[in-house]
Amino acid sequence: MVDIKNIRASICKIGKLLYERDLTDSSGGNISVRDGNLIYINPRRAGHDFQWELEEDQIIVTDLCKVPIIGEVDMISREAATHYYIYQNFPDVCSVIHGHPFYMMAFGAAHMDIPAVSEGTRAVIGTQPITNIPEVVPGSIEQAEEIVKNFNKRREIDPGCPLICNIPFHGAFAAGNNINDAFLFTEVANNCAKILIYRQMMFGNDPKADFSIHKHFTKEDFKTIEVSKDVCTPGYFYTDAFGRQAVYSAGGSSQAVPDSKGVSAVPVIQQEQYREIIRRVTEAVVNQLKK
Ligand SMILES: [Zn+2]
Repeated sequence: MVDIKNIRASICKIGKLLYERDLTDSSGGNISVRDGNLIYINPRRAGHDFQWELEEDQIIVTDLCKVPIIGEVDMISREAATHYYIYQNFPDVCSVIHGHPFYMMAFGAAHMDIPAVSEGTRAVIGTQPITNIPEVVPGSIEQAEEIVKNFNKRREIDPGCPLICNIPFHGAFAAGNNINDAFLFTEVANNCAKILIYRQMMFGNDPKADFSIHKHFTKEDFKTIEVSKDVCTPGYFYTDAFGRQAVYSAGGSSQAVPDSKGVSAVPVIQQEQYREIIRRVTEAVVNQLKK
């Protein structure tokens, strides 16, 4: 698990995950996190010299203009310009990841967009295809500008959408509210590219293969994933956790069923009551801690 509150440790951990999952290689990749007016970023040659086995004290801390606070400016990742430029242009972004995701790079090496096909890609990144920036010198200011231009275009089409793009023959950049989001965008996009490649290899010439998406989900449809739903129909009879006969009510509560004499078993505490008790206890503990 990545502890996003421990920023330096989270960069080390995500770096290792990128490397282990073919989302970057020894030739490059870089990760940064913004915390207020500070930027945390990995040292250069993290793949080549360390195979992404970084120690926390190797993570460099700078201000928003790359002036170092902890560490040396010459040790900062060579692609830092794009990271800082993204932070300057997107106030909601608090983490940037640049990787060399293997399957995304196959699309980049053909200047091809990556359409969102998997449900995961459509839910996480949205239905916009992931597009390529023009070919530019890696790590250049021109690269930084082209990536911000690409991200702005995505936001024009869908304000607030996740930010990710491909770089021909090079890799990808993803930016999110936190390091977990930036990692998620990279991994989900790479998996989408992998699915496209595999299905082409497996079914490309099969006339029976149907590559069309039959059901297009809206943002609202995907939002319903977050909402807790009843899994039983109200009125459903069952044996509860205490071995008593109970009947389910809508909204996640249940009632004990009266026995043959018409007397209810020990009353079942409703979930609402539980929530109220937890709320009061939490409040009391927080107040106590404040003192
Ligand atoms: Zn690179």
